[in-house]
Amino acid sequence: MTLLEPRTWDGQVFSGGWVRSHGGDAPIVEPATGKELGRSGVADAEDVARAAAAATEAQRDWATTSFEERAAVLRRAGSLIEQNADELHSWMIRETGSIPGMVQFATHVASQECYEAAGLASRPIGDILPTAQPRLSLLQRVPIGVVGVISPFNAPLILSSRSVAPALALGNAVVLKPDPRTPVSGGMVLARVFEEAGLPAGLLHVLPGGADVGAALITDPRIGAISFTGSTATGRKVAALAAEHLKRVHLELGGNSALIILDDVDVDRAVSAGAWGSFLHQGQICMTTGRHIVHESVADAYVAALAGHADALPVGDPASGQVALGPLIDENQRDKVHGLVTSSVDAGARLAAGGKYEGLFYRPTVLDEVSTAMPAYANEVFGPVAPVVRFSSAEEAARLAADSSYGLSLGILTSDVGRGLALAEQIPTGIVHINDQTVNDEAVAPFGGVLDSGTGARFGGTANLDAFTNQRWITLRGDIAPYPF
Ligand code: NAD
Repeated sequence: MTLLEPRTWDGQVFSGGWVRSHGGDAPIVEPATGKELGRSGVADAEDVARAAAAATEAQRDWATTSFEERAAVLRRAGSLIEQNADELHSWMIRETGSIPGMVQFATHVASQECYEAAGLASRPIGDILPTAQPRLSLLQRVPIGVVGVISPFNAPLILSSRSVAPALALGNAVVLKPDPRTPVSGGMVLARVFEEAGLPAGLLHVLPGGADVGAALITDPRIGAISFTGSTATGRKVAALAAEHLKRVHLELGGNSALIILDDVDVDRAVSAGAWGSFLHQGQICMTTGRHIVHESVADAYVAALAGHADALPVGDPASGQVALGPLIDENQRDKVHGLVTSSVDAGARLAAGGKYEGLFYRPTVLDEVSTAMPAYANEVFGPVAPVVRFSSAEEAARLAADSSYGLSLGILTSDVGRGLALAEQIPTGIVHINDQTVNDEAVAPFGGVLDSGTGARFGGTANLDAFTNQRWITLRGDIAPYPF
């Protein structure tokens, strides 16, 4: 069996069966070559309305389907991702510009999300509550109904599956809107996987499209909650529209994560971790190390070695299997990255490596002599750029790391774990790694940020139970309750 051939999504969207989209179709462009890989349907608000209606209908039966059947569908989905990984990898490398290691990681996490979600289906669905009355008082978790999922381009399979899988497992239907640049990796793959896994028709709809389609998901009264992953700027718009429609919304937003390098590190190991944190997937990861905060006693050695590392990394077409970095997703992203780098250099930063590009291939870049106000340090770059600032005391390191509107991930490298933990306590983030860089993901761990990085950790473990169910209070008593009148 092949999951993706023939490419039945040409000019179509998946809405409980492959249907022609009302918004027409659009090319799927390979960022490394500019070639058209296929065409994808582009949904419009009418498609969203039809999908939401069909999902509402299908969800009633799904909610009463036994947990064993729901879990079996999720297990089969996880297994199908694993069995078809080679085919998925070759597509995802071309559509997203990821190197092979990155897409292997993506299919691994996506299959684990499905297996973890399968386990969620059999979790207890409530609690017995204390009550001051002679009655039984219960908390019951009930499915939300239809969940809307909006995902970005950068790690599309992971970011769609981590919401789609638990939402389905807990008895919901899903309308998924992937980024229009990555409709296959972020959407059609899951449609095909769940189709083959035996998910009943009407429960998962994949509607690629832009902001208008996202807005239609938020405003549709049949969609009970939105799981949004994307930039902070868009997240604010999503939150505002959701508030107007009194809709539950989970927000997983941007980051500008710090990696603190203390004075007691092995510099070579620290540089390797720092390079991975900033350059993996061309820096297009929400947890990317965006700020290197380095003790002044090791900073010169660190910058020199990081620049050497950056200069040595091969950049090119990831389909060759021979490169460490592939292309940025498109010209807009490249121009944004280059603008942040050049304006920082204009403001006095020293370009220790990179700062150049060819087409969408941006060289891994190291900026030294950076001040905290410089654009490449103060903003989320979402490109392969490592700005370095220096500190002289632990207090200064904590103050620098905490001085950000974002609060997603934090890495601290030190040979004294206790010192690292004490430092981490002073810096508000949703994720902390002592002796690792900032980019990590496991389906069993909570994932999410504070401050402008989102509404807090919710993926992983039981957090998904809260995210994709509503809580209902139920009381039972033997006789009708007595009243004074
Ligand atoms: P983006 O915000 O531009 O787009 C994300 C999604 O929102 C896309 O599907 C897009 O089509 C849709 N969208 C755009 N405007 C919308 C609107 N007005 N209403 C509803 N939907 C709308 O993000 P991007 O640039 O594609 O992705 C990169 C960003 O995502 C970075 O900031 C990155 O840090 C963040 N991100 C966060 C996480 C996380 O878990 N915290 C994970 C990955 C990426």
